[in-house]
Amino acid sequence: MADCLFCRIASGEARADRVYEDDFAVAFRDINPAGPTHILIVPRKHIATLADLTPEDDALVGHLHRVAVTVAHADGRRDFRLAVNCGADAGQSVFHLHLHVIGGRPLAWPPG
Ligand code: AMP
Repeated sequence: MADCLFCRIASGEARADRVYEDDFAVAFRDINPAGPTHILIVPRKHIATLADLTPEDDALVGHLHRVAVTVAHADGRRDFRLAVNCGADAGQSVFHLHLHVIGGRPLAWPPG
């Protein structure tokens, strides 16, 4: 989608600090990090929210999780948090599905 920031990052049209990419996913550092490690994993396919997934995305969702572990380990994080905000009231501000990998500091629960 031309007006989607994360589509433009995934395509390379918009800049980001990319740490990983493959045919299905791109990972890049969050511009406003919540910890020493804060990486976003996005599918190349535009999916607005977690609630918009369909059964045909099942393999993609598994892949995104494996990419999350790969980039966390590559950043030296064995312990980390994986988070997805679904909808504005949950804190979602960019409506292209993304997984947050946050680590490198003690993380409280529940999050705010
Ligand atoms: P969410 O609030 O769950 O939708 O997460 C969106 C995240 O995208 C936030 O943590 C932002 O800091 C981050 N973000 C917004 N614009 C950019 C950008 N251009 N490059 C990297 N991260 C971004």
